[in-house]
Amino acid sequence: MDFIPVNEPLLNGNEKKYLCECIDTGWISSEGPFVKQFEQRMSTTVGRRYGIAVSNGTAALEVAVRALEIGEGDEVIMPAFTIISCAMAVTKAGAVPVLVDSDLATWNMKADEIEAKITPRTRAILIVHLYGLPVDMEPILALAGRYGLKVIEDAAEMHGQTYQGRPCGSFGHISTFSFYPNKHITTGEGGMVVTDDEQLAERCRMLRNLCFRKDVRYVHDEISDNYRFTNLQAAVGLAQLERLDEFVKRKREMGKYYTERLQDVEGLILPMEKTAYADNIYWVYGIVLDKSVHADNRTMQKLLAEEGIGARTFFWCMHEQPAYRKQGLFADETYPNAEYLARKGFYIPSGLALTKEQMDRVVMAVMKIMGNLRK
Ligand SMILES: *Cc1c(COP(=O)(O)O)cnc(C)c1O
Repeated sequence: MDFIPVNEPLLNGNEKKYLCECIDTGWISSEGPFVKQFEQRMSTTVGRRYGIAVSNGTAALEVAVRALEIGEGDEVIMPAFTIISCAMAVTKAGAVPVLVDSDLATWNMKADEIEAKITPRTRAILIVHLYGLPVDMEPILALAGRYGLKVIEDAAEMHGQTYQGRPCGSFGHISTFSFYPNKHITTGEGGMVVTDDEQLAERCRMLRNLCFRKDVRYVHDEISDNYRFTNLQAAVGLAQLERLDEFVKRKREMGKYYTERLQDVEGLILPMEKTAYADNIYWVYGIVLDKSVHADNRTMQKLLAEEGIGARTFFWCMHEQPAYRKQGLFADETYPNAEYLARKGFYIPSGLALTKEQMDRVVMAVMKIMGNLRK
């Protein structure tokens, strides 16, 4: 019985052709022509004026936070339940993440908890769209406008998704993407910052490349990092982007199929198919165990592995990260919904290369495990 990996990307378009072009022409570094083409195509796709490709989605967040000149003494409001890249971008800049709980239905940050967390030190709200449904942005954007706060949109999981018909990645002052292999568009490793603000874009380009001064090279006014993106990555990205609509359609079909097959299984909370402002894009197919199930997501991952199926637990909350607790951050804070999702949520295989036969095997395994757990 073959093991079904949790994610296998689809690379059977023009990826090989464009990569061969890199090798034939000798353009493999970040100076190659595909990088600018990819930046342009990606930013146009999401309706932004500028795109700055970087080495990964974590780097994109770091560059975005730094570009906005967020630092020492500043606070950034973000969800407690997210990937650590979000908190790291803030703490590495010397600022403090301020957390809000999650909505149990959409798994996204609760917009109604944000206002109470605003202080005179608040500089920005980091909106993170998780697992396939966008955050309800209208109230957050209005709040940010009223308090004069910057908005950073982490759209790493939202390639091809829209909010009220407008592309995710086009909201707020600056948005970020990841092209890790489990995202809808991949470049192996990779990320991008997109914005409409020319000065911000220029700052991002500088931060991406060691903050070289423009007038005198090898002289630096600020410390940054090497976050450059290679022509090889851009070659894969261009080929992937050509198929974005097809990939989104496929992911939605997969999501619908899983829901159809799993909807009667007791003990499972399946992802919401849609909200008033978006249809689920199923970044991955997430499942949350309901209160009647005593097992947690780690047990599910183990039991699925025994059936030859790759699964992953959901993110672990920021306020429960040992790395931050050791620094005295988030002491005594609790976010019950976020904690529930982190313990009870997991996702099953849903990579673009997954076949229907594999999905059927996953469904049978989930049914069998849930049957056994309930005995
Ligand atoms: C994947 C992801 C990132 C980080 O991207 P990497 O390319 O893995 O560094 C950031 N935010 C969210 C919401 C993600 O899903």
